[in-house]
Amino acid sequence: MSSSRAKLLGLLIIAAVVVSGAGLYCAIYVRTEPKTIIITRTGTVEKTVRNIVLVGWDGTQRNHLKEMISRGEVPNLVALASEGGLVDIDVTTGATDTKAGWTQILTGYSPEKTGVFSNSRYQPIPEGYTVFERLETFFGPENIVTVAIIGKKGHVDNDPPAKIPFDQWAKTEARQGRKVPTPKAGLKVNDGGQIVEENGVFYVAFPGKPYFNASKHMDLFLNGLGENEKVGTTAIQNLEKYKDKRFFFFIHFAQPDHVGHAYGENSRQYTDGIKSDDEWTGKIVAKLKELGLYDKTLVYITADHGFDEGKTTHSNAPYVFVATDDPKINRNGDRADITPTILKRFGLDLSKIEPPLDGTPLDEPAYVRVTRLGSSAAIFSCWVVSVSMHDLKKPTCAYTNSHSSNSP
Ligand SMILES: [Zn+2]
Repeated sequence: MSSSRAKLLGLLIIAAVVVSGAGLYCAIYVRTEPKTIIITRTGTVEKTVRNIVLVGWDGTQRNHLKEMISRGEVPNLVALASEGGLVDIDVTTGATDTKAGWTQILTGYSPEKTGVFSNSRYQPIPEGYTVFERLETFFGPENIVTVAIIGKKGHVDNDPPAKIPFDQWAKTEARQGRKVPTPKAGLKVNDGGQIVEENGVFYVAFPGKPYFNASKHMDLFLNGLGENEKVGTTAIQNLEKYKDKRFFFFIHFAQPDHVGHAYGENSRQYTDGIKSDDEWTGKIVAKLKELGLYDKTLVYITADHGFDEGKTTHSNAPYVFVATDDPKINRNGDRADITPTILKRFGLDLSKIEPPLDGTPLDEPAYVRVTRLGSSAAIFSCWVVSVSMHDLKKPTCAYTNSHSSNSP
């Protein structure tokens, strides 16, 4: 029996339909695999959590990262995870791209709830849905600082809706060497734009970007910083600035995604991009220690999507990770599990969040809840969800296979 087959059979699913006064409930318990132990925990200090720093390594493929861990090339990630853990995260809903990825990580919702399906199909995330806004509401704006410091310009942005005259848009496109279409009302163009016609004049209309609503409630939203050095130094300056306040920082490094698109996943540049992320993450952790904040700050490192093996794309790249000094993290999970993990550690009551979050904190067993159903619908839904959760584990097997075939 192959190990992947054994893994599939090792998955335990218990589905139950419960009748309560409020209606019929379907609860499904999925016993996921225990977290992958490739980093040994050396010492754990239980922190009283005041702050959380979420660090994004955009486009880091899990398999590539694990190979780097085995070669000792990401010492800062390993040092962090030796206090908490490193777990596998799979993407099961939404595209494996930047807009869909960070939106899910920062809201805990599937694209059906946020309207952010992919880099080209999106809208502003509905007001109040992001981690930043949840924390501002929970603590009160005076009692928490929420900050996003972002390497990318496009895809992790807060621009308002825009309508640009077609001719002006066409000039910019042509200057960038892109083919300009003949204008026709309803035609979709790059970056989620659509051609509209008003009184015989053509325009290109763009929806507001994902963080258009959220950024209004944040203390700082800075994007388009470009390279890691700018992101890292800006983050460190702001940690100093806000050291006396409770804070949530999202620090986004555009590497290795940028070099991955230029040189491919198997390139030296891609590896160097991850090394640079590691180096800057180390400097951020060192700053937290220097400021005396490390013992009350949890740090999580994750990625929005992986990378297609050996390619310059991430069309089907659902294998990522969470590395953290949070010792409570104890299982592999889904991209939707990161938001509930963060909110729970800040003390929010997840059962009060509307609409209900899709994921479950990474220190609890994964549940899927289907509520208030007719009896046959409940049983059918239990079956459908069981099957889909079973499918959910298939990528892990695919990952195992590709890993072994790529091993030297
Ligand atoms: Zn990309």
